[in-house]
Parts: sequence; structure tokens; C-alpha cells
Amino acid sequence: MRGTMMDVPLTLHALVERVERELSDVAVVSRQADKTVTRTTYGAVAARARQLAQGLVAAGLKPGDRVATLMWNHAQHLEAYFGVPLSGGVIHTLNLRLHPDDIVFVARDAGDRFLIVDESLLPLFEKFRAQVPFEKVFVAQATRPLEAPLLDYDALLTSGTPGPLPTVGENDALGMCYSSGTVGRPKGVVYTHRSTVLHSLVSALPDSLGLSRRDTVLIVVPMFHVNAWGLPYTAALVGAKQVHPGPHLDAASLLDLMESEKVTVAAGVPTIWIGIREALEQNPGRWKLQPDTRMIVGGSAAPEELIRSFDRLGLRLLHAWGMTETSPIGTVSRLPPRYDGLSDDERYAERAKQGAAVPLVELRVRAEAGNVPADGKTPGEIQVRGPWIAASYHNGVEKDRWTDDGFFRTGDVGTLDADGFVQLTDRVSDLIKSGGEWISSVLVENALMGHPAVKEAAVIAVPHPKWSERPLAAVLLKPGMEKPTPEALRAFLAPRFAKFWLPDAFVFVDAIPRTSTGKFKKSELRAQFKDWTW
Ligand code: AMP
Repeated sequence: MRGTMMDVPLTLHALVERVERELSDVAVVSRQADKTVTRTTYGAVAARARQLAQGLVAAGLKPGDRVATLMWNHAQHLEAYFGVPLSGGVIHTLNLRLHPDDIVFVARDAGDRFLIVDESLLPLFEKFRAQVPFEKVFVAQATRPLEAPLLDYDALLTSGTPGPLPTVGENDALGMCYSSGTVGRPKGVVYTHRSTVLHSLVSALPDSLGLSRRDTVLIVVPMFHVNAWGLPYTAALVGAKQVHPGPHLDAASLLDLMESEKVTVAAGVPTIWIGIREALEQNPGRWKLQPDTRMIVGGSAAPEELIRSFDRLGLRLLHAWGMTETSPIGTVSRLPPRYDGLSDDERYAERAKQGAAVPLVELRVRAEAGNVPADGKTPGEIQVRGPWIAASYHNGVEKDRWTDDGFFRTGDVGTLDADGFVQLTDRVSDLIKSGGEWISSVLVENALMGHPAVKEAAVIAVPHPKWSERPLAAVLLKPGMEKPTPEALRAFLAPRFAKFWLPDAFVFVDAIPRTSTGKFKKSELRAQFKDWTW
């Protein structure tokens, strides 16, 4: 028997039309490259997005063609987030922190036809323009006359003619992102209209990110990294005010915006919050933030001590896990009501886990013999399946990342407990194997980041003649702190771990190398310390 309900396609159009109808006066605030703060509304963004869509069609864009963006987070990038898919095109957000050679690789791999670039990013564009055959390049926020063949973005907006836009199906492509490729070449993930709408709906749920029309969302996570975790779309869906920091990601600039715009939700990687904590601790009373501001943290594991220290500051970190391939929301660490009776220590330990799968995401943890027991102890590979999880990569590469029964093999290693909470212990490639036994680098480094003198720590495997590998910790101290001795650091860790898990060496560094999306770049550390002598 067929149901009797309407088969309405789940496309971005429905979201934009609602914004136009009912949310047109909600604010969108951006900090520009010159540090000024500009204000517009969803209504104005949507109107310009339609003009952009018409302009792209007039410029010759055909359904399915890719339009790349090289832009910071601001209202014009949001216009492109709406306008490119409205035109039937596919928005491909280029990660401006990649090495120019990698930008060339992803732009060519995606087959980008047009590019929209911030004027402030033209120097970066110059580094790779000769190697990517963009047909047309539009410069946004141009303050100076442009040299041919560069075109003015605002002129593009007025070049189209109002009228119907191409029809788009819910399974048509809406956007593309490339996995940050901590190993191997970046791989393209192509989101559909349907996956994006469903991801926005479930992200907004109270036990997911819990966004509402009452919220003001500061989107620190770059719009060129997994669609800023989908927040530009989710915030628009619920009608939350959006605040975009532009290129100014230092703690003081972010805190100024949080205060002046009365931000209630902010999202970023742990490094951002580590910097913000330091600024708040060093300047007590300088910023008046909204009580209980929720700060979504993901991209790398949030150390338990970071969660505790923000609670002391009256702010709440919410830990979530996901990947480019998962749109990205996969799990969120919200404690179920039955945890109400737990002690503070137990609750912090749970909040530091990556959490439980959000609705409609199936998650399992597999070892060679099959699913691992849900005992919170036995590690295996996390595998996921769901409506906003990639079913393949663009151009069909690395087909072995999917199991025969259609789960995506994440490459993340973790445990699962009886309440469905996962705890990530490593990337498969970062595991340390000492004397045949696994050591979790993530758990050790997170514990180390709870030491009062330690700002950041990354633990890696270093070849060892007897044990095959042993852990070495690269440690970045908080400013002005004295170096603790290796014995003191080991004594600090000892109560929590088996003796063989404790790093044999601690190296004090000026900075820990990072990937373009702010994760520790352990491959670089491993290369640096490969000839270490014990
Ligand atoms: P990306 O595709 O660049 O977003 O990177 C995804 C990877 O980041 C995941 O496979 C994890 O290894 C890591 N990751 C994301 N969120 C978390 C988290 N909350 N805790 C630990 N690792 C995370």
C-alpha cells in the first residue's frame, strides 16, 4: 500500500523560501577583513542569493556545475551557500589553509568552473591561478578596480534577469567538501539537497546541537571546513541569528563579538577554546558573556579539563564528533536523564566522550571478529551509516572505505558503552603499538592537557628497538610556566593509565604542527622524531 502523503522534495529551496517568508528580519552579522562589523538580514541575504543564482545562470552555469569559493566566514559567503545551489550549481568551498598545490589538486579534481574569491584572498589566489583553469573568477568585496580577466561579484549579481530558476531534485548535488586528508590525498564528498536538509533538521534537535530561533550563533568553524558543520544552514532553518568572525579568529576578537552580539551558541575546534580560556582566565571580568553560552567543540577530542574549566567560567562545552564524510554531525555528548545521579567526576568523564549517535545515524564499532562488546573498553573501528553519510567519494576513489553492508569505515578507533556512547581513542594511523599492546595517544594527551603547566600536548609513536614503538609526548607549556620534569609528568599521569602507557619521553616544543583544519598533524611530528634515540 502506498502512503497518501505529498512527496515534496527536500531541497534547499524550501529552507530559503521560509527564510524569505518568515525570517527576513533576523540579523546576519559579519566582521570584515578590515575589522569593521557589518549587519544585514536573512531577507537581504536571500534576495542577493537569488540575484547570484540568476547571475550565475546568465554567466552560463549549467545544473551540476561547480562554483568554488575562496572566502572567509561572512554574509557574502552565506549568499553563496544559498545562491549557488539555488542556481542548480554545486558550491565547492576551497580550504584556504591548504598548501596552494593541494588547492590546485582539489579544484581540478572537483572540476570547478567558476570561482568567487574575497578581495583579501587575492594574494593566495595568485599563488595557484595559473594552474587551475577557472572559466570566470568573481571578486567579492572589491574595493579597488579589478584587472581583467577578474570580474566584479556585485556586477554578477545585477547581470541576471528575474525569472524561474532551474528545477532541482532532492538527490541532486548541493555542495562539495574535501576531507582534510590527514593521510593520503584529499577526497571529495558531494552533499545532496536532501542530505543537507535532513542534517540541518537533526542537528537542530534539542538533544543534538539544540538550536532555536532564540539563539545567536557564532560560527567560528570555517565555512570552508565541512560547511562550517552545517551551521549556516541549520541556523537558517530554525531562524537563529548568525554571527561570522571573518578572518579574525584571535580570542579577543571572538570574545568581543560574543559580548557585543549576545552570542548564545558558538562552534569551533578545541584550539579556539583553549585560546579563549586563556584570555578569559588572564582577564577576569573583561567580557560579559551570556550565562551558559553553549560552545560546540569537535574536530579533535575536547580534553576533560577544558570542559571542567569552562564550567568554572560559567560556559558550557558540548562535545560532538563527525567528519567531512558525515556532513559532519555523527555523535553528540549529551547526557541522558539516567546519568543525573552520577558524581561530578563521572559526568565529566562522560561529557569528554564523543557521545551517542544522533537520530538516523547507525553507528557500530567493529573488530576483525565482528562488533565489539558494548563494554566501554574493547576498541574497534567506528563505522556509520545514515542519510547524511557519504556513500562514495567523488570520482569513485577508495571504494574500500565502505563495507559490503554499506557502512562507512571512518578510520577512527574507539570504544562503545552500553548507553551507546563512543569514546575515540585514535585514528587507525595514530595508534601506538608497544610490545604488541595498543596505547591510545588521544587518551594520554588529553590527560596531559589537564596538567596545570600544559597548554597543548600530542602523543606519538616513535620506533623503539625493544618494544617496536614507544610513546613520546610533544608538550607546549602555558606562557610563563616552568618546565615540569619527565618524572613529575609521569607521576601526574600514573593514576589513570597502565604503566606501559606512560610516555618515555617528553619534548618541549614552541608549537605543535597542525593540519589546515586545526588538528594535530601527527604525521609531521612522527617524521620529526623518527630518528629519536632512546
Ligand atoms: P574532518 O573530515 O576534517 O572533519 O576530520 C574528521 C576527523 O576528525 C574524524 O575522523 C576524527 O578523527 C576527528 N574528530 C572529529 N571530531 C572529533 C572529536 N570530537 N574527538 C576526536 N576526534 C574528532
